[in-house]
Amino acid sequence: MPLQNKHLAVVLQNTYLPFIFEEAEAFGIKVTFFYNQEEVEPKHLKNVQNFIPIDLFHTPDKALEIIKAEHHKNPFDGIMTLYEPALEFVSQLTEELNLPGLSPFVISNCRNKQKMREVLKDNDLNTPYFKEVENTEELKNLSLPYPVVVKPSNGFSSQGVSRANNKKELIDSIEKVRRVNEEDLSKFTKNKTGMVIEQFIDGPEFAIETFSVEGEVYVLSIGYKGNSKGPFFEEGVYIAPAQLEENVWQSIAREAARAANALGIEDGPAHIELRLDPAGKPYVIEIGARIGGSGISHYIVKESTGINYMELVFYYVLGLKPPVLKNERKRKRVVGNYIIPVQGYGIFKEIRGLEDVRRDTEVKRVIQFITKGTDILPYPHFSGYPGFILTTHDSYSDCEQYYSYLDNKVKIVYKNKVNA
Ligand code: ADP
Ligand code: CA
Ligand code: CA
Ligand code: CA
Ligand code: CA
Repeated sequence: MPLQNKHLAVVLQNTYLPFIFEEAEAFGIKVTFFYNQEEVEPKHLKNVQNFIPIDLFHTPDKALEIIKAEHHKNPFDGIMTLYEPALEFVSQLTEELNLPGLSPFVISNCRNKQKMREVLKDNDLNTPYFKEVENTEELKNLSLPYPVVVKPSNGFSSQGVSRANNKKELIDSIEKVRRVNEEDLSKFTKNKTGMVIEQFIDGPEFAIETFSVEGEVYVLSIGYKGNSKGPFFEEGVYIAPAQLEENVWQSIAREAARAANALGIEDGPAHIELRLDPAGKPYVIEIGARIGGSGISHYIVKESTGINYMELVFYYVLGLKPPVLKNERKRKRVVGNYIIPVQGYGIFKEIRGLEDVRRDTEVKRVIQFITKGTDILPYPHFSGYPGFILTTHDSYSDCEQYYSYLDNKVKIVYKNKVNA
């Protein structure tokens, strides 16, 4: 057991999604968890040996010092995060401490949507029209391929992302993104504002989970992520494996692997979002150099293919050679993450129907994130996901049927409710 007794530092983690801690325990890995000091000490995590609070977004230099000091006392074999806005911080650390990880250069190219697009374009990937702007002044001389999407250059969780069908809507969208940059994202992105306008790719969306070994990209899973037309892009479903003809599967896999290569993701995981245009041509929407969904992608890959995604990542991060992979399309069963829709906004009271859902045999886990009394803002602001329902099914159509049932069954109740 090469992973046994290795020491892993985990930087920030949504503790409602404990896959990383559960898998670490299963492999006998010791974990030091640098948790967000604004949260209560997550003592309920029985599989964590050591808890240390940090305030990564307010005092990053201090956080860096705390982690380095701990490393000198009690050395780590590796450091990782599944949290998109902490990736740059962790890559700085792994570089300074000479631990496995992608370089800050690679990570910053993935984190910034304008840079990501430039790299993909330079490497001949399918690229929609894209242009970074700072304000509406710059629109004057642009002729744009409507519909377009506007998004914060350094955003995450679809915050601020909105569709515009014409100039008037675009000016409105830009104002929305400006406010999201200022009000919601500034804590995470500091002075990195800006926004990117992109041509809207009108077609189904897929999530591709990959693992790279010395420049070879293995596509572990392709799942279906809905076909949202906007104007906002609230996450909805994730069903894997997606129902795809072999040639379509191959063309998506090829484009995703080329994107990971182009961005320099030579080793470790990537979570890639991609859409097919009406002609079936694949366009990468974005790429995250991490296991997606704070660990949801691990659940999806493990349950649908039998491959333990987190284990592969542990090998890499802890400086060990991962087990040999094959480039093949593995299928075990159909799995899904049903993301409970926000269904409006207001002061959150409760989610109705979850108690019954918990008892259904398809349901593996129900995770509720929001708590009573929380003020939920309307999109494109993002107040967090209400909850996830993780399921497994014998067939794709069983999953679809179960989702129709959930659409009617699971209802959010707001006090002073304002329904969308
Ligand atoms: P974030 O990092 O906030 O998740 P994304 O770039 O992934 O931002 O955008 C969020 C969602 O918006 C995507 O999952 C996709 O559904 C939609 N979207 C973004 N860009 C485009 C585009 N060019 N064409 C179509 N849909 C898009
Ligand atoms: Ca990104
Ligand atoms: Ca992202
Ligand atoms: Ca995204
Ligand atoms: Ca998305």
